[in-house]
Formats: sequence, C-alpha cells, structure tokens
Amino acid sequence: MVGQAQAVLAVALQAYIAIDTDGRVKGWNPAAERIFGHTAAQACDRDVADLIIPAGFRDAHRAGLARLAAGAPGCRLGQQLQLSALHRDGHEFPIELTLTVTEEPGGRMFHAFAHDITTARRAARFADVEAALALGLAEADSSTVAAHRVVDALGVKMGWPVVELWLVDDQRQMLTCAARHTGPGWRLGDFALAELEPGVGLPGRVCAGGVPRWIPDLGSDGVSLRSVSAARVGLRVAVGVPLSTGRNTLGALCVYGDRVEDPEDIVLGLLGGLAAHVGQYLERRRAEELTVELARTKDEFLAMVTHELRNPLAVIASTLSMFGEELDELTSEQQREYLHVIARSSQRLSVMADDLLDLASLESGNLATDPVDTDLCAIIGDAVQACTASAAAKQLTVTVRLPHRLDLHADPNRLRQVADNLLSNAIKYTPAGGTITITAGLDDTARTIVWSVADTGIGIPRTERPRLFRRFYRASTALGKRIPGTGLGLVITRTIVERHHGAITLAEHTGPGTTFVVRLPAADA
Ligand code: ADP
Repeated sequence: MVGQAQAVLAVALQAYIAIDTDGRVKGWNPAAERIFGHTAAQACDRDVADLIIPAGFRDAHRAGLARLAAGAPGCRLGQQLQLSALHRDGHEFPIELTLTVTEEPGGRMFHAFAHDITTARRAARFADVEAALALGLAEADSSTVAAHRVVDALGVKMGWPVVELWLVDDQRQMLTCAARHTGPGWRLGDFALAELEPGVGLPGRVCAGGVPRWIPDLGSDGVSLRSVSAARVGLRVAVGVPLSTGRNTLGALCVYGDRVEDPEDIVLGLLGGLAAHVGQYLERRRAEELTVELARTKDEFLAMVTHELRNPLAVIASTLSMFGEELDELTSEQQREYLHVIARSSQRLSVMADDLLDLASLESGNLATDPVDTDLCAIIGDAVQACTASAAAKQLTVTVRLPHRLDLHADPNRLRQVADNLLSNAIKYTPAGGTITITAGLDDTARTIVWSVADTGIGIPRTERPRLFRRFYRASTALGKRIPGTGLGLVITRTIVERHHGAITLAEHTGPGTTFVVRLPAADA
C-alpha cells in the first residue's frame, strides 16, 4: 500500500509536500519539483518556510505550525487555501493548497497538496479588465472619456504603473497622448509627454510600424530617448500595441511596468484584443463625428457642387452658342480653340463626377484597388507627361528626379490618380513662373518608397494643415485667391495611399510653397 501511494504521488499533477512539526520537508514529489523549482534532494530536510514561503509570510507560518504541533485543532486543515508561494528562481506566484495532518509514531506529520493557479488567476484578471473596458467604452459619450476609461481599467485592474493611449492626428504628423493612467506614488517627470512625432518613442514606433512592440529592458533600449527617461523614473519594461481598424493605425496603447508578471505572448494577446475593441470603438465614433460634420457641411457642399458644376456647364453652353452664331466667320484655328475650351470644361466635369463617385465608395468603405507588380517611376513619368501642357501654360518649371525604376505591388490606375491629383494641385496652386519638383526613391531601409511633390506656390497655413485631408476642406489661401476646387482630391488621395499601406504627409517647408510626401512599401518589403 505504501509503495502504491508513492507511485500515485510520483505521477500526481498536484505538488505533494510533507513536513514534520519543525517544518522540515519529509516528502516532495516530482510535481513539487516542477512547481517550486527545487529537486526532492534539494528540498529534503530543509525548512519549508525557506523554500517556498515568501519572506513576509514566514513568521505567521511558523507560529501556525507551532500551534498545530502543540496539538491545536487547526481550523484551516482540510480547507482549500489560496496562498502566495515562492519559486526557487525568486518569483512569487499564487497556489491553491489543501493541508491535512496524520498522527505518526514520531509526532504529527502535515501533508500539503498544491497546484499553481497563475493561469486561472490571470484568466480571471483578464476577464475582469475586458469587462471593465467594455463597460467603460459602452458608457463613454466621447472619444476622450473612452480613452480615459481604457487606461484606467488597464492601470487599476492590471496594476501597471503607467498606461497610455496615443492617437495620431488627421494628418498623421503628430501623436497626441489622449489619456494616461499613472499609478499611485509614481512621478513621471519629463517622461509624461503630451505629443510625439511618428516614429519617436514606443507609441511613435508602434504607430509607424503598425505592429506590437515589446521592450524588455527600457534601460538598455538605446533607440529612444523616451526609454531613457522611462528607466530614470523606475520603469523597466514596456509593451505597445497598435490601435488598428484593419486598414488604418489610429494610435497605440502602451503599458509600462517595473517588472513583468506575465509572459510576453500572453500580455501581447491581451493588449491586442483590447486594442481591437478600442480601435473599433474609435472608428465608429469617427464615423459618427464625420456624419455630423457631413450633415453640417451639406448645405455648403450643395452650394459648392452646384457652383462647380455650373461653371464648366456655363462655359460649354456659352462657347457652343458663340460657336453656332459665328460658325461661318470662324477660322479653323478659332474653331479649334472653341472646341478646346469645351473639351477642357467637360474634362473638369468628368473629373468631378469621378471624384464624387470615388467619394461615395470611400464613404461606404469599398474603394476598389487592383494591385499588380508595377513601376512607380513609369506611373509618375506618364502623369508628368500628361500635365506638360498645363504647366507650360503657366510657365512653370517642372523638375523630375527619379531613379530608373521603383518596383512595388500596387494598383497603377489608383497611383496614377494620386500622381495626377498631387501634380494638378501643384500646378493649380502655384502662380506663373514657379517651380514644381517631383522626386522619388527608396529610403535608407530600402523597404519604403519616398515620393515627394514640392511646389513654390501659395502654400497652406500651418494652423489649417490638420484639417487638410478632410472632405471638402479648402485652405484659406485657395479660397482667398478664388482658385476653383472641391476639396475632394486629397481625401481620395489619402485613402488610396493608405489602401496601399502607405502614408501621405505634408512636409515641413522652408520658404513659400507646399511639399506633399507619400510613403509606400517597396516591392521587397
Ligand atoms: P481641391 O484642390 O479640389 O480644392 P484637394 O482635396 O485636392 O481639393 O485639396 C484640398 C485643399 O488643399 C485645396 O483646396 C487647397 O486649399 C489645398 N491644397 C492642396 N494642394 C495644395 C498645394 N499644392 N498648394 C497649396 N494648397 C494646396
């Protein structure tokens, strides 16, 4: 029977530990070896308190044991207890334990059966965070309130000292910290920034790459100055996950801690799931905000569209009427000129109709793209060729600096639309005699194509730039000079670029003019 019991204990999944009245280990099965990290040989005859009981609980354990050894009934015997245990490597973890006692010839013997409940506890904690977050989002009546609920739910329930939610602005030129949770007693100093540029710090890197990042040791993360300030205030590890909606990265959810309690993949799994919820919420809210904005601008929009339609139509009608009246007297050169005016106006109408159609698909979320292996240089070259006449009409100097080829996987027709829009804007918004410079090439990593279209034109005031990619938005510089336009081109351009996993930004500019920069993944990337 004894041999049989030994055999059972040897294969049991629960740790079995026997101790005598002095707390000396007398039994230690293989599961105990696995759970606590000490072999049976290492544990045998040692004081169990030194082996598996965290320092803070040792006195209480010894006092309790002394009472039991003296024959006290022991109200905790036979009950399931949840306790903190110490592993040989020094980390503490939760266990569930049942204690029984037998009377042996040499005195009382205590038998404990225990198992590690880290996973179960974690699952309960994660479920708790998810529930708090879902409730927080459901009850939030604005994105700002939602952001605060998210960071607080994570900070409080998970015990992370710093949790931040960063959002990218409309133009993708700046990241703003929408909410930050700071645990009690933490002083963040210059770590607590309100804004970051894309690519800078953990949030910037997560947003730029669109993938989660784990920094196991902030102190030795030479890449970022912000990691250095994090380490200075006592933070050791950091994890960031993108807030994505499948198509776009809207921001990043980042947590910072002084130690790692859960394995990397598990933390990333939890945060990734939460970030997906938050991303969907933010996208829904943005759509709602857009609808409100759209409703507000509807009258403006109708006035604008009517005006924009009426202009070319009026030109066509009056030209046709003159054409009809003067037909007999017109030279063939003049006839050609009239036809040219009609063609230009109808071209404007058809561009507008296309833009409105694209806008409609964009609203419903299905702007079609048909990617193939293609060469951006050829696309840009064709677009430049097509606008030679209109640039020459304004005596604009067009400089093109392109390599031989730039291969990428993309929809050539859509990229041509991007090229046409950026070039036609540059021509439209640059007064006669100006310069337009188009460059493209691979960046240092050779994974990203950087394509810029710069002009020396009327420019866009800095304060208006964050609104530039909104539907129907027209800068005061364009409106002031009464240059016709609809404010649709850039929205469509940005959507196309993002569908190709790229980004479009307005570059900082010295001197007059505007520079748009498009970044697209190169073929090898
Ligand atoms: P549109 O040109 O039809 O108005 P877009 O969406 O292409 O529409 O551009 C939106 C606004 O951005 C323009 O109305 C103009 O104010 C500004 N803009 C775009 N490109 C330039 C540029 N190259 N220089 C100055 N302003 C520009």
